[in-house]
Amino acid sequence: MDQLQDIRARIARSAEIAGRKPEAIELIAISKTHDAEAIEPLLAAGQRVFGENRVQEAEAKWPALRTAYPEVKLHLVGQLQSNKAEDAVALFDCIHSVDRPSLVAALGKAMEKAARKVPCFIQVNIGAEDQKGGCAIADVPALLASAREAGIPVVGLMCVPPAGIEAAPFFALLAKIAADNNADGGLDQLSMGMSDDFETAVLLGATQVRVGSALFGKRA
Ligand SMILES: *Cc1c(COP(=O)(O)O)cnc(C)c1O
Repeated sequence: MDQLQDIRARIARSAEIAGRKPEAIELIAISKTHDAEAIEPLLAAGQRVFGENRVQEAEAKWPALRTAYPEVKLHLVGQLQSNKAEDAVALFDCIHSVDRPSLVAALGKAMEKAARKVPCFIQVNIGAEDQKGGCAIADVPALLASAREAGIPVVGLMCVPPAGIEAAPFFALLAKIAADNNADGGLDQLSMGMSDDFETAVLLGATQVRVGSALFGKRA
């Protein structure tokens, strides 16, 4: 799988430049819209961490693949409706899109009911865009506090910067917001960087990069 080797090498090179260990960066292969046939080569090449943006699509695709590869970890990177919280908690190993109090409440309840604590990221609307998911920067402290109160293990912050302009300032801003809210510890992870900008994200401290099209080709 040439693309996978290429992406891994580029992550490693960026990590080295930044004085970081390549193992400190987790590559999440974003397999949304791609079927099992497209995913198989990545599994065969050793990739074990995948991301999807829709609960139903993931439910249709992954149970069978996971039977063959039980050690696969699945991340939810798309917006989550509160009425899908139980399904998401059952299926995913990590949720990147916690962005509002109603979802915090639903996820807290779902995790308690399932007796399963799923690590979560708080998604920040880093470019203050109307159409994007994520909480406002000013709301991060309160949302973080309520998530912790609800028993949700929040491990870090996630963002999708505005399209079409340089992402670096937004990645740096997310890192600063995380540092500013990390007095009590535990907010050490940064989910940022996609196909076009993951190297920049690694330079600026990403611990999770979410790469889709650079691995799978363009989505239909
Ligand atoms: C689709 C998606 C990605 C991957 O995007 P590419 O540009 O294809 O790498 C990453 N993060 C989120 C939240 C996505 O929805």
